[in-house]
Amino acid sequence: MSKKKIAVFPGSFDPITKGHESIVRKAAPLFDELIVAIGQNSEKSYMFDLDQRKKWILETFKDLSNIKVDAYSGLTVDFCKKKNAFFIVRGLRSSSDYNYEKNIGLMNKTLNSKIETLLFLAEPEHIMISSSVIREIISYNGKVDQFLPECIKIDNRE
Ligand code: ADP
Repeated sequence: MSKKKIAVFPGSFDPITKGHESIVRKAAPLFDELIVAIGQNSEKSYMFDLDQRKKWILETFKDLSNIKVDAYSGLTVDFCKKKNAFFIVRGLRSSSDYNYEKNIGLMNKTLNSKIETLLFLAEPEHIMISSSVIREIISYNGKVDQFLPECIKIDNRE
């Protein structure tokens, strides 16, 4: 059996933001491998397709050799089991994030007692950033590049 310490950072990443990037960069040194796992929910519609979201994540972390990017559907704990990952990484911006993450984390622990959820505090300057607000700004033609990883430029696209 693999002894590698593997973690999964699950999310929609629609699109990836500076907030997500910061959480990954905090967590990456703690693990042999950190899988940024793009959840695909057939009931949900996304602003950016899976290929685009994946490309942006790969580009963001091209300097980190232990970051992998993958997509999954179904339960996060089942994906973790498939990947031999015993840790789930999530980010916390607020007490409402905490309440949400606590419930999901406890539920995941109940579904698979071997999997621990680790919560990382957001940087103060990232607390107001969420993919949903970014999508709203984009839909009204506002500028968003300042909230996205340095390498992503979408403000002046066609
Ligand atoms: P989901 O749709 O599963 O919430 P997201 O892509 O929105 O997926 O978020 C994935 C994780 O990243 C969540 O744990 C969320 O709390 C965290 N996160 C989102 N935005 C930020 C941010 N600005 N700073 C820190 N963590 C964040």
